[in-house]
Amino acid sequence: MIPKHQNQAFLTGPGSLELRQLPMPEPGPGELLIRVDAATTCGTDVKVFRRGGHPTMLTLPAPFGHEVTGTVVRADAGAAQTEGDTVVVGNSAACGRCQPCRHKRENLCRDLVYLNGAFADYMLIPAVVAERSVHPRPPGLEPVIAALAEPLACAVHCLERSLAGWSGPPTEARALIIGCGPLGLMLTDLFRSVRTRVSVLDPHPHRLAVAETFGAAETHRGRAGEGDDLAEERFDFTVDATGSPAGWQRAVSCLAPGGVAALFGGCRPGATLKIDAERVHYQEQTLLGVYHYRPASFRAALDRLWSAPERYGRLIERELPLDRLTDALDLMISRRALKVAIRPHPD
Ligand SMILES: [Zn+2]
Ligand SMILES: [Zn+2]
Repeated sequence: MIPKHQNQAFLTGPGSLELRQLPMPEPGPGELLIRVDAATTCGTDVKVFRRGGHPTMLTLPAPFGHEVTGTVVRADAGAAQTEGDTVVVGNSAACGRCQPCRHKRENLCRDLVYLNGAFADYMLIPAVVAERSVHPRPPGLEPVIAALAEPLACAVHCLERSLAGWSGPPTEARALIIGCGPLGLMLTDLFRSVRTRVSVLDPHPHRLAVAETFGAAETHRGRAGEGDDLAEERFDFTVDATGSPAGWQRAVSCLAPGGVAALFGGCRPGATLKIDAERVHYQEQTLLGVYHYRPASFRAALDRLWSAPERYGRLIERELPLDRLTDALDLMISRRALKVAIRPHPD
């Protein structure tokens, strides 16, 4: 039985969330209604929650949350999915026609549609998302782990961009991942999966310990902007997974000749980066902006989750009901949880 009303979290301002009771939406042409099985909190949520918005993803007041898996409970006859299907939903859909889309850079689509509203009992999936960004949940994959497909897709995209910029085999490269939040940990696993030797840098001992279980060969304790035992080292791949100018600066300054720096964490509007122009030129260094993911990266992410559910399960340090979403974000902010899974309908 589908109730007549449902609860949905709205971001209403910096640090302010509201759980609103709304009439249950009815799917229109090509649309789906899913029951949310799990939605995970993410660093982007924390950022958006604190800043009270996001330059491209949402304007306030806005439904909140974007990492989600659920079960289709109503489907328009025109949709590809039917009632009972278990699905993982990407948080954006590209047009498929513009120049970036034709060049397989769908993440840069000029008409990219974003989907927010995962922190809810139920979620209406617009037709364009249902058509392009809804994937079957791999059989047997726990919903709380399947919900990680979106951030992992971003990490997969980062690995693919980095490898494309590197001339030799990844087995002969060394990588430095700056920041061991969930994305830094995912990136550690992915670089290790292509047999690159991975070092990580993070100030939190717990996160460094988790990084070892994700395949880090070396862990270094410290903040990106401070001196530490890595200051003199150079890496073929560097990745900023902090989203801070200090992390970006470190990614650039630690780069070896011919190396590839992936500037992955999104910085505040107006943030700037200092570059040693002579070094970038004579050492042919590649500085890559990396943003979001492509549909192909999302599918690869689901495969990866399915092949290593236990490892990825370590990222989910708490599960909470929907009405404790603010507590979940507090756990993230105070670094007491890497990620929290919101389960609106606990078994
Ligand atoms: Zn996310
Ligand atoms: Zn497009």
